[in-house]
Amino acid sequence: MTLNSFLKLTPSYRDYIWGGERLRPGHYPTAEAWVVWEGDVIESGPLAGKTLGEASEEYGAALLGKRTTSRTGTRFPLLIKLLDCAQWLSLQVHPNNELAVELEGPGQFGKTEAWHILDAEQDAKLIAGLKPNTSSEQLAESIRNGTIIDHVQYVNVRQGDTVFMPAGTLHALGPGLLVYEVQQTSDWTYRVYDWGRPATEKRPLHIDKSIRATRADFSAPITSPPTTGDGTQHALVESDYFTLELLSAGSNTIDLGTAGESFHAITVIEGKAVLKTNKEEVELEKFQTAVIPAQVGTYQFQPLMDCRALKSST
Ligand SMILES: [Zn+2]
Repeated sequence: MTLNSFLKLTPSYRDYIWGGERLRPGHYPTAEAWVVWEGDVIESGPLAGKTLGEASEEYGAALLGKRTTSRTGTRFPLLIKLLDCAQWLSLQVHPNNELAVELEGPGQFGKTEAWHILDAEQDAKLIAGLKPNTSSEQLAESIRNGTIIDHVQYVNVRQGDTVFMPAGTLHALGPGLLVYEVQQTSDWTYRVYDWGRPATEKRPLHIDKSIRATRADFSAPITSPPTTGDGTQHALVESDYFTLELLSAGSNTIDLGTAGESFHAITVIEGKAVLKTNKEEVELEKFQTAVIPAQVGTYQFQPLMDCRALKSST
């Protein structure tokens, strides 16, 4: 089956209590925009009305790419969210692939993720891993007795920083951050500490699983913003599960190509852009996203005004 149209997606939103009002003006609180998710509906073109997950199952490698289907089959393998954090999010950890299978069952994936900071208030912080020299025993005991927060590593971040978070890294986003998050599609999050908010059926703590999943020796590397120019691309993260790149353009078009190996997911984070092939074009405003099926091949990213965008692929 051929598939050579851009798939512009309608995001779905989550209105959690810790959200703000930058992602969807007029709807307060909006915590998360799920801009690339298997449940998102395709807005236009021949697949309009289907979800991204349905299209992935139906088109397989034509959409996902040969490299992607050889690794993870026909499930859409990435989840990309924008998060507007007005309060601390819960401290949490995700299992790796092997532990997800052991704790949750066959066929389950773990979760490695990365954050790119879109906006940060002065002194905004996040938590990425544990203080140096924290032992596994200290880790387990402090998770059990509720004092884990004394052992975590706080990091100051600013706009343009990127944080790579391998599965097993304890993490939390802090107030004043607006974040692009790319992660493996996985349902497994173990909540370690919730800032004294009561554990409820909807927000339980997962003490034993989080002790199994957390690596005492993991802290996450932070990368400073790259030096950008007009029409440049920079790799921010290259991992086994995804590659994250920054596209920056004032007036110069950037030529891109999937080579049939992986889809691309492009989210505009500043300005506006048009994606073009010789058959089709689609315009993306700030925070809008399109998935480019692997079968599209070569295409152009053309800025309509000073524009920055993030591109994820596998
Ligand atoms: Zn997480």
